[in-house]
Amino acid sequence: MKAEIIAVGTEILLGDIVNTNAQFLAKELANVGIEVFKQTVIGDNSERLSQAFEEALASCDMVITTGGLGPTEDDLTKETACQVLGMSSVLHKPSLIALEAFFKKVGKEIPESNYKQVYFPKEATVLSNPNGTAPGAILQQGKKTIIVLPGPPKEMMPMFRNLVKPYLMKMSNGVIVSEMVRVLGVGEGYAAEKLKDLIENGQNPTVAPYAKEEDVVFRITAKAKSFEDALKMIYPLKMEVKNRMGIDAYAEGDDITIQAVVADLLKRKNLTIAVAESCTGGQIASRLAEQSGISKNFLEGIVAYTDDSKIKRLGVKRESLEKYTAVSENVAEEMAKGVVEMVGADIGISTTGYAEKGDGVSDEMSGIVFIGIIYNGKTHVQKHSFTGNRNTVRRKASIAALDFVRRCILNE
Ligand code: ATP
Repeated sequence: MKAEIIAVGTEILLGDIVNTNAQFLAKELANVGIEVFKQTVIGDNSERLSQAFEEALASCDMVITTGGLGPTEDDLTKETACQVLGMSSVLHKPSLIALEAFFKKVGKEIPESNYKQVYFPKEATVLSNPNGTAPGAILQQGKKTIIVLPGPPKEMMPMFRNLVKPYLMKMSNGVIVSEMVRVLGVGEGYAAEKLKDLIENGQNPTVAPYAKEEDVVFRITAKAKSFEDALKMIYPLKMEVKNRMGIDAYAEGDDITIQAVVADLLKRKNLTIAVAESCTGGQIASRLAEQSGISKNFLEGIVAYTDDSKIKRLGVKRESLEKYTAVSENVAEEMAKGVVEMVGADIGISTTGYAEKGDGVSDEMSGIVFIGIIYNGKTHVQKHSFTGNRNTVRRKASIAALDFVRRCILNE
C-alpha cells in the first residue's frame, strides 16, 4: 500500500517551522507496512491543496495530511479533502459535545469560528482529539483514503498512535521493520565501500547507508508478514554488517550515543576516567555527565585552556609547550598523563587543537586536534584534521575522543 504525506501550512513552506510531522509519520507508516511514496508541503491555499490531493490520489492509495484543521479561514484541509472526494458535511454530534466540554473546562464561550470543526461527511470516521479542538477524520472512497490530522504534534501524534495506527494495521498486510548499525571513525564512502555488495543487492532485507551529523548509520530494513519474521530476516544481515565494520561499529539502535556506549563500558569494566580538555572546553565531561549513574566512573574534568593552566593544573612542562606548541602530540600526551596523576583515574583523556583559523592559525592548521589517552600505563595519541566551523570541530573532537576511549578499552 502506497501513501503520500501532505503537510499543510504556509509557515512550513517558508521554513518558519520544521516539518517534524512528516518525519514522525514516515517512520510510523513504515512500521505498519505502508510505503511512503512522496512527501509534500502545501501552503494554506485551497486550490493548490486540491491539486495536490488529485495528484497524490492518482499515484497512491492513501493521503495523510497534517495541519489546516483549525478554526480560522485559512484552515481549509478538511473542506478541500471533502470537495475533492465529492462529500458534503453535516454536524457531527459527538464532536460538538466534545467541543462544548473543551470550552467549558477552560471557562470560555465557544467562538463562532470553531463550529466548523465539528462538521464532517456522514461517511467519515471521525477521530476525537482530547488534546485540542480539531478532530481528525478518515475519509474513504472506494480504494482511496484521505486521513486528515491536526498540525500541532502534541495533538497529531497521540491521534495517530491511538486511532489511526490500529486502523492502518488492519488494512495493511505486513510490516516494515528497520534496525540500525552505527559506525564511527570512518567516512560514509569508506564504510559503504566495505558493504557495497550488500547495499547494491537491494533485495528484501535491504541495507542503506546514511551519514548523520555525528556518525554513519546503516539501516537494515525488512518487509515481512509479522514483526518477528522481519527481525529474523534482519538478524543475519545485521551480523554481517557488524562483522565487516569490525571495531568501527560502535552501537546498534536509533538514538544511542557514543557517550552512552562509553559509560556502559566503563561501568561494566569498573573503570574510572578523568578528562583534561583544551579545545573541547568541557564537552567530553558534559557528554559523560549526561549518563545516569556515571559518578562512580567519571571522576573529574579539567578545562585547561591556556598554557599556564595546562602547566598549573596538569603539570604539562613549559619546555614542551615552547618546543612543540600547545597543539602537539607531546602536549596531548602530557595532559592525559597529568590528569591521571592528579586525579588517580584508570583512564585519562585529553584534547588540544585549533577549532578555527585566525589569531596565528592558518587555514591548514584549523581543525587539527590531538587527542591523548593513557590507559594501563600506555599512552596513545591520535591526530585529527576536522572540517567545519569552530563548534563543529569541537563537537567532532569530543565525539572522536570518546570513541578513542571505547577503542582503547576494547583493544586491551
Ligand atoms: P490549530 O487548531 O492549532 O490551528 P491546525 O490543524 O490548523 O491546528 P496548523 O494551524 O496548521 O494546525 O498548525 C498549528 C501548529 O502546529 C503550527 O504553528 C506548528 O507549531 C505545528 N505544526 C503544524 N504543522 C506541523 C508540521 N508539519 N510539523 C511540525 N509542527 C507542525
